[in-house]
Amino acid sequence: MTNTAYQSHAERATIFNEDEARVNWHDETLWWVRQKRDRAAHLIPEWESLRELASGIKDNVLSNLHDYLVSFEEQAIQNGVQVHWAADAAEHNAIVLSIVKRHGVNRMVKSKSMLTEECHLNAFLSEQGIEVIDTDLGERIVQLAEEPPSHIVLPCIHKKKEEIGDLFHEHLGTPAGNADPQFLTAAARLHLREKFLTRRVAITGVNFAVAETGEFVVCTNEGNADMGAHLADVHIACMGMEKIIPQRRHLGVFLRLLTRSATGQPITTYSSHFRKPRPGQELHIILVDNGRSRQLGRPDFRNSLKCIRCAACFNTCPVYRRSGGHSYHTAIAGPIGSILAPNLDMKEYADLPFASTLCGSCSNVCPVKIDIHDQLYKWRQVLVQEGHAPLVKKVAMAGMAFTLSLPSLYKIAGKAARWTLSHAPFAVNNKLNPWYKNREMPQVPASSFGEWYAKNRTKNK
Ligand code: SF4
Repeated sequence: MTNTAYQSHAERATIFNEDEARVNWHDETLWWVRQKRDRAAHLIPEWESLRELASGIKDNVLSNLHDYLVSFEEQAIQNGVQVHWAADAAEHNAIVLSIVKRHGVNRMVKSKSMLTEECHLNAFLSEQGIEVIDTDLGERIVQLAEEPPSHIVLPCIHKKKEEIGDLFHEHLGTPAGNADPQFLTAAARLHLREKFLTRRVAITGVNFAVAETGEFVVCTNEGNADMGAHLADVHIACMGMEKIIPQRRHLGVFLRLLTRSATGQPITTYSSHFRKPRPGQELHIILVDNGRSRQLGRPDFRNSLKCIRCAACFNTCPVYRRSGGHSYHTAIAGPIGSILAPNLDMKEYADLPFASTLCGSCSNVCPVKIDIHDQLYKWRQVLVQEGHAPLVKKVAMAGMAFTLSLPSLYKIAGKAARWTLSHAPFAVNNKLNPWYKNREMPQVPASSFGEWYAKNRTKNK
């Protein structure tokens, strides 16, 4: 996202809220997913111990990240994998491009990878004349709509089935007005099958990478990562460097937590292990930093690197559910995205930690026990200290601080406010006041609490 078209979370949420029916349906659908997660979690008596264990394993990973990464690299090379390191998004994209160019290819398939969204890989490759087809159904839908995903697990959750029917009619030639999900899925399957069979390069993401063995695991419900990787001559796996876990046995902990937290399923339909290239195939892994080392060096925020991208914090968040993923203007939306994004660019994403009620529901559901709402609160303090609060807020806070420091001024201001609200409410209740737009202003009391207390204390003596 660029600054030229900058719109804050609040501005984008206002646009999303113009369609009230969509907001209600979006809210209810995600709450339904959250309830599925609850039922799945409650079926496992040791759920809380699993969360504790996962959090502890990730603590260990973050404290020894360098060693685990080096061990993973050594094992992967021994397995015949070509390992690349990328310091940032630009390097990641350049590495992908160099591999693709070496093979003289100008089109490829890609399964869901939030890292490649974070690096804006599709746009970069398209500028180089290389076509990327997203093969996850939800991702393909948003790609056809020329939109980014709005949710990391359910990329097109903001779209109604009728809109998808229209998109497929326009791009895939399905009959106009047919919005039957089964029919549309079958049409997408036919459309994608031809892509799978004809593309020689496939990109996948990585859910977990095992330091002990150099293997990695990709979880999908559609099997599209497997189709892409198994049919292609070249498989490129793009991986944020925090995806490391120490040993294969730890997969049991994370795989049990991931999908139950994401969709309420006991396990993803496909949890595919990749260790070495099949004969004649090239397998590349790109290990990407892109700000992760910086986040690791921030004591208050390093825990955010434990995230396994289940999106449970999205589904439970009252702000996300009613503002939509695009309002976050970053690849990873929701509560965790609001912690990760300011690390990449404080100025650009200064609004995001404020897009929360701090109710703590996100921290309650997080399978790796990230203290999400505490970190959002801490980011607010950092952003204000670093001068990234909006000017209006800065002036208002300075004015409040001055008024609250002088009791006599506070009393006068209180009287003036009560008089204005009772005799000239339009001075406050107007469209310039963002609070008034969505709230009933309270009934004005006849006196301040101080006046009431002084009077009643005298009376009761
Ligand atoms: S922060 Fe926790 S709940 Fe949110 S996506 Fe990451 S692992 Fe899931």
